[in-house]
Amino acid sequence: MDRESYNVQTVVIGAGVVGLAIARELALSGREVLVLEAGPRFGEGISSRNSEVIHAGIYYPADSLKAAFCVRGRQLLYEYCASRKIGHRKCGKWIVATNDRQAARLEAIARQAEANGVHLQQFSGDAIRAQCPDLRASGALWSSQTGIVDSHGLMLSLLGELEDAGGRLVLNSPVLSAESSGNGHRLEIGGDASVTLLAGEVVNAAGLGAPTLAQNWRGLPASSRPEQWYARGVYFSYSGRQPFDQLIYPLPEPGGLGVHLTLDLAGQARFGPDVEWVEVEDYTVDPNRLQAFVEGIRQWWPSLDASKLQPAYAGIRPKLAGPDGGFADFRIDGPGVHGLAGLVHLFGIESPGLTSSLAIADYVKGQLG
Ligand SMILES: Cc1cc2nc3c(=O)[nH]c(=O)nc-3n(C[C@H](O)[C@H](O)[C@H](O)COP(=O)(O)OP(=O)(O)OC[C@H]3O[C@@H](n4cnc5c(N)ncnc54)[C@H](O)[C@@H]3O)c2cc1C
Repeated sequence: MDRESYNVQTVVIGAGVVGLAIARELALSGREVLVLEAGPRFGEGISSRNSEVIHAGIYYPADSLKAAFCVRGRQLLYEYCASRKIGHRKCGKWIVATNDRQAARLEAIARQAEANGVHLQQFSGDAIRAQCPDLRASGALWSSQTGIVDSHGLMLSLLGELEDAGGRLVLNSPVLSAESSGNGHRLEIGGDASVTLLAGEVVNAAGLGAPTLAQNWRGLPASSRPEQWYARGVYFSYSGRQPFDQLIYPLPEPGGLGVHLTLDLAGQARFGPDVEWVEVEDYTVDPNRLQAFVEGIRQWWPSLDASKLQPAYAGIRPKLAGPDGGFADFRIDGPGVHGLAGLVHLFGIESPGLTSSLAIADYVKGQLG
């Protein structure tokens, strides 16, 4: 029996923070927008498994999309959160060096940040002790532009504005496969809907699922079907009081920014994420990772009470380069890349994707013309 088919102007696949930001932007530009989400709720993919940090834009190469979108997205996000009363706090962060060898790397980080338009203040070990007696460091950088955000509140607001502009979110509707041709894009939907959609414009913002979907996309050139790796990061929460009021980051490590202390808006601390390359999407937090956390944190907070650390949650970074691959930028393949009008695929939207979401949305709208 033939499946029922419907026409729709614009489809966004994936209801994470990036998909919702794009859908809202497109709906506000007057399009009829449908968001298709595989799961039973929105925002339960990578967007609910992160540090909720509004990044300043420090570490990324100056000519990268990550640098441009992080800096622009951060400005847009602070304005958006302030105007919609979404929970956020520009609390600032310390980047700490715990020995002289690391202290020498601070200079290079400060230069990279400056090239991205982000000014960091340098502090000596003594100056830090005066500011933050519990912190042990031989030098540090202070980032005043870093903050935290209620990511669920942000997604709720984006969804509300999408719906106010006439857009719709449809849950339990995985896109199984697609075909693009000169006549538009044909999407086969499974789950509750189980229909065929014919769309003039499609944005693939399926997070970890985006490359798999691209593999099942007839008409898309092989060069627009990237390989993806998973880098899991786990978090431990800290019960009880702790002495810090700002975020604290060690120096970045391959694959991530290092196990850092981040705060939620109630002041509760959590530590993470570490980096573990995995083959499958598995969110188990192995309690045995605790010892490595304790050793890492004690480098800069010697009086940590390890008995207050509890396994919390895990997130998985969608990586476009493997363990030895070095830096990989966000990848946003629009018509200029694959030659198919009205189609944009987003790949490798790892950190700072939350911070960048509003800037990415604006860019994707430009790609669709
Ligand atoms: C450990 C960790 C820490 C991070 N910390 C930060 C941070 O502090 N600050 C920051 O700026 N960024 C951070 N990030 C990055 C940020 O969380 C992501 O960039 C962002 O959440 C990605 O959003 P998304 O909408 O692209 O993906 P997702 O939130 O994963 O949304 C994709 C959605 O698509 C759906 N989907 C998948 N396949 C299909 C399909 N075939 N059909 C329909 N729907 C489908 C999924 O169910 C999901 O809901 C972190 C990431 C990780 C992993």
